[in-house]
Amino acid sequence: PTATIGLTGLAVMGRNLARNIARHGHTIAVHNRTAARTTSLLEEHGDEGSLVATGSLEELVAAVEQPRVLIVMVKAGEPTDAVVDALVPLLDEGDIVVDAGNAHPDDTTRRQQQLEEHGLHFVGMGVSGGEEGALHGPSIMVGGSDHAYDRLGPVVESIAAQVDGEPCATHVGPGAAGHFVKMVHNGIEYADMQLIAESYDLLRSVLGISPAEVADIFEEWNGGDLESFLIELTADVLRHTDRTSGTPFVDVVADAAEQKGTGRWTVQSALDLGVPVTGIAEATFARSLSGHREQRDAARKVFDTDPDPVEVDRDRFVDDVRAALYASKVVAYAQGFDQIAAGAEANGWDIDLGAVATIWRGGCIIRAQFLDRIREAYADEPDLTTLLTTPYFAQAVLDGVHSWRRVVATAAQSGVPVPAFGSSLSYFDGLRRERLPAAVIQLLRDSFGAHSYQRTDRPGTFHTAWAGDLAEVEIEA
Ligand code: NDP
Repeated sequence: PTATIGLTGLAVMGRNLARNIARHGHTIAVHNRTAARTTSLLEEHGDEGSLVATGSLEELVAAVEQPRVLIVMVKAGEPTDAVVDALVPLLDEGDIVVDAGNAHPDDTTRRQQQLEEHGLHFVGMGVSGGEEGALHGPSIMVGGSDHAYDRLGPVVESIAAQVDGEPCATHVGPGAAGHFVKMVHNGIEYADMQLIAESYDLLRSVLGISPAEVADIFEEWNGGDLESFLIELTADVLRHTDRTSGTPFVDVVADAAEQKGTGRWTVQSALDLGVPVTGIAEATFARSLSGHREQRDAARKVFDTDPDPVEVDRDRFVDDVRAALYASKVVAYAQGFDQIAAGAEANGWDIDLGAVATIWRGGCIIRAQFLDRIREAYADEPDLTTLLTTPYFAQAVLDGVHSWRRVVATAAQSGVPVPAFGSSLSYFDGLRRERLPAAVIQLLRDSFGAHSYQRTDRPGTFHTAWAGDLAEVEIEA
């Protein structure tokens, strides 16, 4: 055997990942179910490095040095099971199977247990950056055993994006930690994109400006705190006009956002963990709403009058939206990091949150300047309660809070939906409020269901006889 590593699944992601690995001087054996993809990879890019074509999984396995590392980059779900099941009988103890697809962390845990029974290592590895990232340097979130990372680490660290000389790849934790972190990354990506979309809608609807003018604003924002891949991309896509009609391209694209599932998984997991990820949840629901064409048509017919326009000062409003976007983004990221911390705790994974921020600085879709600040916050205080209260972010939120309130109020008055802006502000107010109306909920629960409550003035658990004499009794622990 001559190859350092093997890879099966040569669609866009696998093909580019294989080329990236070869370009970094590693000999890689490649395979695809349909041989034509393997042939075309070798024909078109065989000269970029040491790529070894193989025609079957048996040949792939035979081509790789032991303990073998075999990356599986096929369609998530059943295809991944089919390929993993076919590999198992061909492997030897200590070999490592790496699923680089977007798997649900529970599937990764299940597959890992299955392979463990055969003395094999299974690694769930999250890869972010899309097609371009896979080729030029993605962000890579690796789970699984230390044994697996000893073998896999040098390869993935060499092919990942590099920021300030550090690779955007790390062993984030054992088990399914890699796929869990990738899942939350995608959830944050949902929230980030929804916040950007709301900012666009506000600027356009309230100020009555064109998409190209909104693009200019985003371009300017990209020079400041908001500097990020998605903000830069927003300026590009908004500036584009339809080749045939010359209208802004954003106006000819159907306004129904699709989803492949990682946002939904993030929210489902957050519900199970009891972590409020309001930004991600609202972003996921907003995508669902956008797809409900019939309900939207029906509602528009009945409620077709827009509120009176709100007069705002253009420059001030642009700056308010920028500040609201930044503050809401801080909330969304703080919530995502809370979820990673809770997932790590619930599963016994030791995840270094600062390391996660570090590897998200480059290569991935949510790469941003601001992740450097998150990394610093965790470096200062590894057991942080919430990112929101760290000096840098607290100051950013304080500086922007009046803008944030004005933007949400203007949105409500203008009839512009801002679920992510609004819920982030409510989350912030919920956290900082001395008394929450949760006491009312406790009273109602005790009243209709005798669910009991605690008091602020003395310890113990109590119930009031709401239907009787209103006597309060202390409930034995
Ligand atoms: P696809 O998800 O479109 O999957 C196509 C690949 O899966 C082909 O190589 C195909 O082989 C193979 N395949 C499908 N079914 C089977 C099967 N039953 N047995 C064997 N092979 C099978 O490819 P992508 O490159 O888009 O994505 C690969 C993985 O990476 C997915 O899990 C995806 O979620 C994840 N991912 C994708 C990103 C993206 O931007 N596209 C970003 C990050 C992760 P064949 O050619 O024979 O049909």
